[in-house]
Amino acid sequence: MSQNKNAAADQSKVMDKIVSLAKRRGFVFQSSEIYGGLNGCWDYGPLGVEMLNNLKQQWWKSMTYRENIEGLDASILMHPRVWEASGHVENFTDPMVDCKSCKARYRLDVLFDELSLKRKKEALRELEPGKFEGQLKDELVIEEFAKRTATDADSARIAAMLPCPNCGNKGTFTDARKFNLMFKTFVGPVEDSSSVVFLRPETAQGIFVNFLNVQSAGRQKIPFGIAQIGKAFRNEINTKNFLFRTREFEQMEMQFFVKPGTDDEQFEYWRAARMQWYVDLGMPREKLQWHQHPKDKLAHYAKDAYDIEYLFPFGWGEIEGIHNRTDFDLSRHEQFSGKSMKYFDEATKEKFTPFVIETSAGASRSFMAFLVNAYDEEQAPTAEGTTEMRVVLRLHPKLAPTKAAIFPLVNRDGMPEMARKVEADLRQHFRVFYDDSGAVGRRYRRQDEVGTPYCVTVDSQSLVDQTVTIRERDSMKQDRIAISNVRAYIAERLM
Ligand code: ATP
Repeated sequence: MSQNKNAAADQSKVMDKIVSLAKRRGFVFQSSEIYGGLNGCWDYGPLGVEMLNNLKQQWWKSMTYRENIEGLDASILMHPRVWEASGHVENFTDPMVDCKSCKARYRLDVLFDELSLKRKKEALRELEPGKFEGQLKDELVIEEFAKRTATDADSARIAAMLPCPNCGNKGTFTDARKFNLMFKTFVGPVEDSSSVVFLRPETAQGIFVNFLNVQSAGRQKIPFGIAQIGKAFRNEINTKNFLFRTREFEQMEMQFFVKPGTDDEQFEYWRAARMQWYVDLGMPREKLQWHQHPKDKLAHYAKDAYDIEYLFPFGWGEIEGIHNRTDFDLSRHEQFSGKSMKYFDEATKEKFTPFVIETSAGASRSFMAFLVNAYDEEQAPTAEGTTEMRVVLRLHPKLAPTKAAIFPLVNRDGMPEMARKVEADLRQHFRVFYDDSGAVGRRYRRQDEVGTPYCVTVDSQSLVDQTVTIRERDSMKQDRIAISNVRAYIAERLM
């Protein structure tokens, strides 16, 4: 195996380990598992929902604990005209092809993305015999292939040359068709075209249609923002990579309404603020990068757009988009609803349609990024003087589902009673876990594996001087502190 293949195999092993840990320890389960699962849907178990809530709470605090950002929770079902105005009915489509032999369905861009460089080179040569002969630079192949697959005619010809990744048959793909990613359903008892509604594919539109409601209720002046966390649904053609691309997921979106002309400056402010949020919660900066959308690939509404990408084991993947959406959304809603969406500036007596800077993060996708980022394996010393493999989730304490575990060293001599008292006190403030089974070393390992930052142990000295040991997950260092200080010790580290 080449070095590259080895590295790819190792990385896919890491993903397998994380998915298996997530299931075993109750972070994430497959949806409807007993029925064989439902593709693209996942359930958050006891520790998962706690961690996801912590993540959302961190985002919510960082956004709405400000003077100029208000919260909102709009409904998932909205008037169908919303999706016409937003452009989703027309544009929220992916070109896809079906394999006529095995019926597998692929998003065309995903199919192309997965081709090796060698296959891309061969496809180019087949496309235009004579033009791409001899030694070709890798960059040239990549650039040329991207250019060709951006046109409908060439991409159809390239697809026709490819073998189906599922059944291996060549030339069996249908022509590319546009596939709308919105889930459709009906309101009321009659299933006809007048009762069609969509499950929202993004939370943003709930914010736009409420722009003036929130502005006047909150007595906000421009610039101000509206933040929302909620479920979104996309009938993705290919779901893959665990929580990365799912059909039901959660978004954390904030739309910041600004005066035209100040949008570039605000865009830069929010870009910096959003990148910093991930770093503050423990992501190394070198595992994050910017991807600017090339001007010719910008969404129909955008003036400028950057993705924050995280280096997953399977490569770089977007976790958040920061977009300058101009006045597109408000203008379109004004046009489609016939209601003015303009803002009146009392001070200058100007009336204008604000520009929107959007920060659009996936709660589910960044949950996965934080989980992957936290996963670590190392050799750690045992009580017997040997070493053993320790799996540790190095989650930021703010994200960790359990903040502290409390152990009596042994189940006698009054230690359990004392440990229960410590637990009862801490439980009023943090999510804690009591464990009295097995050797203390094992109990530490069980907590390390789920990212619990602090383990508090009541031992024989505790009975004499009312102190406990408190052990920190990453360094494995222990402090001895007075029981009366335990709560403050933990609280301080969660600030
Ligand atoms: P992609 O290109 O990966 O499909 P996108 O550019 O369509 O994503 P946006 O519409 O900008 O994504 O959505 C904003 C955020 O919502 C993304 O950065 C991602 O975190 C999250 N998101 C989008 N689609 C999905 C999905 N199918 N599953 C999980 N999270 C998603």
